[in-house]
Amino acid sequence: MAAITAAEEGLSSVLVLEASSKPLEKVRISGGGRCNVTNACWNPIDLVANYPRGGKPLLGPFSRFAVGDAVSWFANHGVNLLEEEDGRMFPASNSSDEIVSCLRNSAKGLGITIRTSIFVQKVNHINGQGFLLYCRNGKTLSASRILLATGSHPSGRHIAVGLGHSVEATVPSLFSLTLNDTWLTSCPGLSFEKVRLSLNVGEESFNEEGKMLITHWGLSGPVILKLSAFAARSLHTNKYRGLLSIDWLGSDIEDVKEVLIKSRYQNARRTLFACSPFPQIPKRLWRSILTYLDIPADVKWAHLSSISEKRLLKLLAHNFFKIVGRGPFGEEFVSAGGVKIEEVNLKRMESQLCKKLYFAGEVLNIDGITGGFNFQHCWTSGWLAGKAIAQDYFVSRQGQ
Ligand SMILES: Cc1cc2nc3c(=O)[nH]c(=O)nc-3n(C[C@H](O)[C@H](O)[C@H](O)COP(=O)(O)OP(=O)(O)OC[C@H]3O[C@@H](n4cnc5c(N)ncnc54)[C@H](O)[C@@H]3O)c2cc1C
Repeated sequence: MAAITAAEEGLSSVLVLEASSKPLEKVRISGGGRCNVTNACWNPIDLVANYPRGGKPLLGPFSRFAVGDAVSWFANHGVNLLEEEDGRMFPASNSSDEIVSCLRNSAKGLGITIRTSIFVQKVNHINGQGFLLYCRNGKTLSASRILLATGSHPSGRHIAVGLGHSVEATVPSLFSLTLNDTWLTSCPGLSFEKVRLSLNVGEESFNEEGKMLITHWGLSGPVILKLSAFAARSLHTNKYRGLLSIDWLGSDIEDVKEVLIKSRYQNARRTLFACSPFPQIPKRLWRSILTYLDIPADVKWAHLSSISEKRLLKLLAHNFFKIVGRGPFGEEFVSAGGVKIEEVNLKRMESQLCKKLYFAGEVLNIDGITGGFNFQHCWTSGWLAGKAIAQDYFVSRQGQ
């Protein structure tokens, strides 16, 4: 995005150095091969709320290039993006190859040189004369301006540190949670449209509401991934231990109590298993809950002991789970941490410490929740950096 933008602004000598043999590999595997390019969150004020690291400082960049701009950019480069019910946006072909081809062909058409299998190990800044890049193959290259867009690879952060920057240590984000509660994990595949969650990690508390999925090892789904993103650093510090409260029914304890009391009278002659008063709880989970609480499934509502009723109420209304670890990642995975954004002029994506050094994407201490937000900040920062690099080049030429 940065290279294309700089070339479209008129820069004639743009070189992309790529360590692997295939550029854009992460784009190709993204979104389960579909590439969730962005999210239909059109207003920058709403957009920034989706970045646990980044947040408000991103208001400036997004006010210049936000979701609508990304959608138009891709349309102008031949790719139509379609919105799904939950707001995620994918290429109309439903294939990440369309995005890879779009970027590759646009770069080719603009005469951008892409050199693959070139791993940049170190960069030196020579005052007034630009940069010297030392590659693993022993070659040295020089450049008047450089953009670091090395994603989560540690080499990018090392280069940034070598050029005077400081970094926030990286930790994983967007992961599922592992629990030991077998009565829950014995129901994999069950999903819940809207649950309220509260996660306590050490002294901190995180609250979220949304769709949740039960897995073989614990919990996943959009609300869990979101929780993991906001609690990423605290969970890492606490060795992925915490206490999760799940409000299955989205109502408070008094409401649940009332439902149970009513059921005792209205369904007096029916069995607990046959007649669950909670349509939100799937039958499979309802059976698992009764088994866990030692309540025989064939007991009639009229014969439900008050102790069993209390235990049922406690479990349904205020259910606490011990988080015992980090589960596998969802379709998307990013690192929290990276180059500190306080040291970067976010209007131009230029370093405040080293002139003519620019940053874009995941190398920065910016990350979003799942749903296309991670690519969105990459498009935004790449576009801003590309513009700024071209502008700086033409301004410096005028001065000569
Ligand atoms: C499985 C998976 C699925 C994802 N799906 C989505 C999704 O659908 N939607 C979404 O918004 N986000 C998604 N993400 C996150 C998204 O892919 C990243 O946020 C994004 O790719 C970051 O872009 P980037 O350009 O900063 O870094 P990258 O895409 O990681 O690109 C950095 C490039 O720099 C190269 N490089 C690194 N170091 C050097 C070096 N020293 N010298 C030369 N080259 C170097 C790397 O080889 C790489 O090609 C997904 C992530 C994963 C892992």
